[in-house]
Amino acid sequence: MAHDEDRERTNEVERPLRVALPNKGRLSEDALELFEKAGLKAQFRAERALMASLGDRFQAIFVRAQDVPEIVADGAAELGITGNDLVAESGASVPELLDLGFGRCRLVVAVPDESPVTKPADLPSGTRVATSFPHLTSTHFRDLGIPIRIAPLTGAAEIAPHLGVADAIVDLVSTGSTLRVHRLREVGTILTSSARLVGNPQAYGAPALRPRMEGLVDALESVLRAERKRYLMANVPRDRLDEVREVLPGISGPTIVDVQDRGTWVAAHAVVDEERVYDTIQSLKALGAEGILVTRIERLMP
Ligand code: AMP
Repeated sequence: MAHDEDRERTNEVERPLRVALPNKGRLSEDALELFEKAGLKAQFRAERALMASLGDRFQAIFVRAQDVPEIVADGAAELGITGNDLVAESGASVPELLDLGFGRCRLVVAVPDESPVTKPADLPSGTRVATSFPHLTSTHFRDLGIPIRIAPLTGAAEIAPHLGVADAIVDLVSTGSTLRVHRLREVGTILTSSARLVGNPQAYGAPALRPRMEGLVDALESVLRAERKRYLMANVPRDRLDEVREVLPGISGPTIVDVQDRGTWVAAHAVVDEERVYDTIQSLKALGAEGILVTRIERLMP
């Protein structure tokens, strides 16, 4: 008996942790790309497989983005990636472990262009609101003290006002072009969203599983951090080093390396924010730098 329990515990520790990923769309592609950059490229056994291995320690299971919160809350997967709009709508208790930054959008209230409404609170009682986010929508209007009627749709809410089935909509907006095409005007934001890594709370609390879950958070975070940084190298005159240090702060100051046979020159290396690269190069050139090289960084763990 004790032996069986031991074996069960060992299996629990050794089996790959399941990560629920969206099975289609942008969120799915971006999630798989992120795993690949973290050294966990998905290996599919067959085309359109419902599962894939992500290295030896994780296994992807592909489900609808809407189902990810429930699947992680149930423990059918220890981890999951989906938009926090869907997490909030589901009401599932799945702690957020990391904001992945992609899939940015906003859940907004919109009305036809010709409507006099300028903010959600202007909508009269009894307004019919079409949405595939009934939970977040009813909570929002309940908080405003406005009783509304919800027309639940699974998508394409933007056509509902033109079909006469709703007076307003609550839908996701990214660039805003879908609203414009349908002659709808945004009057308020309910939530801003992006893709999140979420975890099952019991699994995250289990000493046998938590280190691996945290390891995945670290790996994905290192990729996200690196994407916003560049590694910059330049040969600089040794007598301008103090000024170079001011221009190249790096993570803990630049790395200074001797350049062989050029006693008056040193090589300075540093990690630089992507948006500072242009100015930094101009400043280094002004200090007489040569051989400037900028490269991408795959992963960064300070
Ligand atoms: P846009 O025209 O760029 O504002 O995109 C709006 C359309 O794309 C709407 O139909 C939204 O439901 C959908 N959409 C935009 N961003 C997202 C997202 N991050 N996740 C899911 N659907 C989105």
